[in-house]
Amino acid sequence: MTARADASGGMGEVYARLGVPRRINAAGTLTRLGGSLMEPAVLQAMAEAARCSVDLSELQSAASRVIARCTGAPAGIVTSGAAAGLTLATAACLAGWDVRRMAALPDTRGLPHRVLMARTHRNSYDHAVRLAGARIIDIGHNDRGTGAGVRGLEAWEIEAAADADTVACLFVATPQTLPDLPMVIETAHRLGLPVIVDSAAQLPPRENLRALVAAGADLVVFSGGKAIGGPQSSGILAGRRDLIGSALVQMMDMDVSPQTWSPSDLIDREALQGIPHHGIGRGFKVGKEEIVGLLTALERFVGRDEAALAQALEQRLRAMAQALAACPGLRAALVPADGAEQPLPLLHLHVQGSAHRLSQRLQGASVPVHLGERLAGQGVLILNPQTVAPEDDALLVRSLILACETPP
Ligand SMILES: *Cc1c(COP(=O)(O)O)cnc(C)c1O
Repeated sequence: MTARADASGGMGEVYARLGVPRRINAAGTLTRLGGSLMEPAVLQAMAEAARCSVDLSELQSAASRVIARCTGAPAGIVTSGAAAGLTLATAACLAGWDVRRMAALPDTRGLPHRVLMARTHRNSYDHAVRLAGARIIDIGHNDRGTGAGVRGLEAWEIEAAADADTVACLFVATPQTLPDLPMVIETAHRLGLPVIVDSAAQLPPRENLRALVAAGADLVVFSGGKAIGGPQSSGILAGRRDLIGSALVQMMDMDVSPQTWSPSDLIDREALQGIPHHGIGRGFKVGKEEIVGLLTALERFVGRDEAALAQALEQRLRAMAQALAACPGLRAALVPADGAEQPLPLLHLHVQGSAHRLSQRLQGASVPVHLGERLAGQGVLILNPQTVAPEDDALLVRSLILACETPP
């Protein structure tokens, strides 16, 4: 079976057999719409991986070497997504090599369990941190967010909140928060605290694979199912070797016999007072296929010509904008790629009338179409070409024109 058959009938046949319509996703690498589309080379590698047995511990050691090469971090593992990476990163900071703590998680009664986080960084993924047993302590103010002030998070606010029960700082990377990262890392390290960086969606630009590690972050998570183009249920946790080892042992299947256990070289057997049981991460297991798929996608992502790719996407968007020029009640405006703030080109569709209603109509089309709704309240739907197969461009445009012409 080929990854994608011809544009007319072959796409999504496997879903049609299940009675599930395929969708055109122009809203970005959203998990609920299946994340990224994988290249045939990645699928090929996964198919090969599926056909023989391998020691997952050895495979994660090899993954660590690839991730180290691509990120500059001392070590890394493949996780079942960035959210799982956040839980494992937190578990590593909570337990270290302490087998009793590994066994107790997520029960952290009587154990240090505070994680400091700027209140302006709070988002729905911090549940993944609490899942490990940590309690998030909000620090800083939101003066800038309300327009009332000029200051962001400050070193003294971290110092004032850190105590003997604090195990880590959590930082959510965005183009807006990144200027604060060096101060957070410097302050946290002065206090002996590791810094976990959620960088799940900060790719492209590819430089971010290295920049956060280079800035001194102790643990960094990336999503594998977003721009990297790996399996939807994959991610990367990269960073300090001891913390990566702790995260790995808390994720591995541990039905091992003490006499014959041969752990990954990431696991410091001397530091463990015993052999851990299944840890908090056992439910986040990653298959050999996902590990191989992620590593293949990662190496392709690193070797990719990002400028050429952005240019090709921009060309497609220009053609779509042109085709939409006569569309009633719609104005398409190209937002070109522009560095880290806007790494990929987008099309902003300014809608006359309710953008939500148009979006809903598109989602009800015979091949449903999804556009980004982040600015829908301001009358703008965002067309993100990242997960649109080029052979779907024409259908996407036709659906838009039809939806605009249909009376509400
Ligand atoms: C997407 C995302 C995640 C979760 O990534 P998965 O790989 O889907 O688990 C976590 N944090 C942020 C900021 C994200 O955008």
